[in-house]
Amino acid sequence: MKYYILFGPPGAGKGTHAGAISEKYNLKHLSTGELLRNEIAAGTELGKQAKDLIEAGSLVPDEVVEGMIESAFETIKGYDGFLLDGFPRTLAQAEALDSILLKKNEQVTAVISIMIPDELIRQRIAHRAQIEGRADDAKEETINHRISTYHAQTEPLIDFYKKVGKYHEVLAVADTIEENRASVMKLVDSINN
Ligand code: ADP
Repeated sequence: MKYYILFGPPGAGKGTHAGAISEKYNLKHLSTGELLRNEIAAGTELGKQAKDLIEAGSLVPDEVVEGMIESAFETIKGYDGFLLDGFPRTLAQAEALDSILLKKNEQVTAVISIMIPDELIRQRIAHRAQIEGRADDAKEETINHRISTYHAQTEPLIDFYKKVGKYHEVLAVADTIEENRASVMKLVDSINN
């Protein structure tokens, strides 16, 4: 099985490009943000716990997302692998992922990193706020907190995966989704060939 990580700051376009990658390589797209938003919409206990943290732009506890990912690995069948979107987001989550996979005699295949500068994060999120109406996209304060959380807690993963030779990055700063998608797909194809 393949275990790809789709990495990048908030608003980089992970969710936007995940569909094309997962379709081409028969991967199950797993977005922890989307799974959490589904829990909130369904009004579950987990959703209630996650709601305030997400709307403040903070991360939910590592154990929560680790549990979601592990159970998805166990229950979802019929794919050649998984495309993890928004997970791992902390070093602890990256280490947990390694041990979850080790128990299955598997390992992370590669990290596909979609990179954009901070100014573009703000523009993309402001644009998305008008289209998707996500609560965590609406407030400037929340967006700033998500950006600083990314730099403090998530960015260290770049070195973590570089050290094991699994980190692959593409700069997605073109004006159109199509141009950025072409660059992302070129990178993914190069990893697979
Ligand atoms: P974005 O890429 O714009 O940050 P996501 O949908 O990936 O959007 O995440 C939305 C929010 O869900 C995050 O800001 C965080 O609060 C929560 N979340 C998602 N994935 C994780 C994770 N792996 N660990 C902790 N919190 C997470």
